[in-house]
Amino acid sequence: MRVVLLPGDGIGPEIAAASRRVFAELAPEVELEEHHFGAAAIRASGTPLSDDALAACLAADAVLKGPVGDPEFDAAEIRPEQGLLRLRAELGVYANLRPARADGIDLLTVRELVGGLYYGARGVRDDGTVFDTCEYHPSQVERIARRGFELAGSRRGKLTSVDKANVLETSRMWRRVVRELAPSYPDVGLEDMLVDNAAMQLASEPGQFDVIVTDNMFGDILSDLAAAVTGGLGLAPSASLADSGPGLFEPVHGSAPDIAGRGIANPAAMLRSTALLLEYAAGRPDEAAALERAVDAALLAAPTPDLGGSATTEELTGAVLDALTSSPAARTL
Ligand code: NAD
Repeated sequence: MRVVLLPGDGIGPEIAAASRRVFAELAPEVELEEHHFGAAAIRASGTPLSDDALAACLAADAVLKGPVGDPEFDAAEIRPEQGLLRLRAELGVYANLRPARADGIDLLTVRELVGGLYYGARGVRDDGTVFDTCEYHPSQVERIARRGFELAGSRRGKLTSVDKANVLETSRMWRRVVRELAPSYPDVGLEDMLVDNAAMQLASEPGQFDVIVTDNMFGDILSDLAAAVTGGLGLAPSASLADSGPGLFEPVHGSAPDIAGRGIANPAAMLRSTALLLEYAAGRPDEAAALERAVDAALLAAPTPDLGGSATTEELTGAVLDALTSSPAARTL
């Protein structure tokens, strides 16, 4: 198996080192190929995603990526984030999976990533009115809904489809397409929920959810809310998948320039993204679960400053490796 590792910017190289240690210890047969990405790549080659790096990503089994972004390039014409948008588009990763777990909460947001309001027609009318449009083709809804049903079927069997069908045409079509698929997944219970209610339910009773499937913008907002009620963005991983080809695995957080270079970044989201890679790209769910458990244990044993502790990135990573090697499941890795 070949994984392209893109450390990225800011704290990216520090948390990428944590993933490298985990791979070296637990899955040394995985070949890691590293490339500059984001601001680091602009400095090295004038572009945030070089042709070489893109070709390597397209040919890999999976891409593990740190955050990109650097204040130096905030106002520049060529910016680090352009590389990320291009990479997502080139990989065609339309399904963004964002798990969120905490005491009594274990939910997975499945967000449509390449359609809807963020990709529809936009512009400025003659009178100065600015507009963005939400557009979906039924085939885009069907493929993300199928992902939702399949994932719910492999978990607790409950799928909540979130829309705004009382107002939006796209949402009415979304709801119709999702309902039409339901008979094909008899083991999954489907419920529809309006997005405003979903936000309230997530804040007040998040334990009720198993899998949430929703459109690009609703998923963007609700998955951050789900992260907030389960410990914050610093702990949240994500996996972005296409129907075939390499998936993209990355922490939800940014490059944290305020703490970059100090060795205190929390590597949990990066390591949880590594666990998602083991589950979805390597087909190793047992090892992924072992890594998840090890990260949970390490967060309690050696919390970093963002969690009120004083452990360094390396110390937390060391605690993850200790937890892995002391658990029986880890020995199968
Ligand atoms: P951020 O997530 O980088 O930081 C927000 C706050 O959270 C900061 O105080 C930071 O120190 C803290 N934080 C984030 N991750 C942490 C970690 N692993 N351990 C400890 N603390 C952590 O968000 P921002 O400051 O708004 O953005 C900084 C840069 O990151 C920007 O250039 C932005 O464009 C970029 N960004 C990139 C991605 C991505 O690559 N997917 C996502 C979001 C933001």
